[in-house]
Amino acid sequence: MSTIIRELIAEPLDLPLWEPFKIATGTKDAALNVLIRVVLEDGTTGFGEVAPSPYTTGDTRETVLAVMDQLSSAVVGKDIRSWRGILNETRKLVRYQVAAHSGLEIAVLDAFGKSRGVALADMFGGVKKSVETDITLSLGTPEKAGEDAAKFIKQGFSKLKIKVGMDVQADADRIVAVRDNAPDAEISLDANQAFSPKDAVELVRRANARGANISMFEQPVRKDDFEGMRFVRDHCPLPVAADETVFTPEDALRVVREGVADMINIKVAKCGILGALEIISICRAANLGLMIGAMMESKIGLAASVHLSCGFGCFAHNDLDSVYLLKPFECEGGFTLDGSNFSVEGITGGTGIVYEPK
Ligand SMILES: [Mg+2]
Repeated sequence: MSTIIRELIAEPLDLPLWEPFKIATGTKDAALNVLIRVVLEDGTTGFGEVAPSPYTTGDTRETVLAVMDQLSSAVVGKDIRSWRGILNETRKLVRYQVAAHSGLEIAVLDAFGKSRGVALADMFGGVKKSVETDITLSLGTPEKAGEDAAKFIKQGFSKLKIKVGMDVQADADRIVAVRDNAPDAEISLDANQAFSPKDAVELVRRANARGANISMFEQPVRKDDFEGMRFVRDHCPLPVAADETVFTPEDALRVVREGVADMINIKVAKCGILGALEIISICRAANLGLMIGAMMESKIGLAASVHLSCGFGCFAHNDLDSVYLLKPFECEGGFTLDGSNFSVEGITGGTGIVYEPK
């Protein structure tokens, strides 16, 4: 079996959503992603994916395709058994295009795992075979939020994440509508940087005064407002999670040093898999909690995060729900889904993804 990389292929992957998804920074009607394939000389194929997000990671489909074009010559001809060596080199060539690079990391590791016959979850430690995800309610009216909450509970979800950041009173009304329809659910919030520190605290106060019992608040204020994050943390009786604030291991170190969050939300699109491994170590050493999230990846890219989470078994909160928002399409492997549970049982190489582009 040859372990030499023959080809790096990147191409558009259009994925329709069930319904438009609204957060504080905009609305998405479809996911205009990029499919990445790393093909070895023996035909073994590793699959990766990037879900570009101009606001969060600064990528568009065009920039991702351009980066992959640029990296091709640094990847082709290399031996997949030196996966970290290959990625160390390519990472030097694309210092700021992290999301694009993360798609390459996923494809390289998938190819490595398939070539060596080891599932990524096992390579990361094999701690768990399955993890439970939350599901996210996008911005909208309280009525719609209440209906969605009831629907998701019926489908077997027990953790609901509510996007907030419209307006303190309107958000409090939505949170209470969700609580009324999901009395036993774990409810968390994500403002995607939308609030001032005082408004964030006020939202938690008003919602909890009406019995919301919120479990966690993600990125309440601007990503670079460290003082604001600390203010929210000091004035709210719940854990604060840093999402957009942390892209790199250096960002994670700053969060630890300045004591501005209780947990960090790792996303492969923000830091790649290599960066995720370092951030996990930093959080563990500093007694910070860990959660794992995703962008609008389909099963192809999301599989890497599911394997990372199962393999380490260290994420207190899994926010891996993009597959529920996208319409299904033909794609084998990766994981199996049962309600809110992802399982990697039976995957024997890499993420196990097999996909034939149309
Ligand atoms: Mg978030």
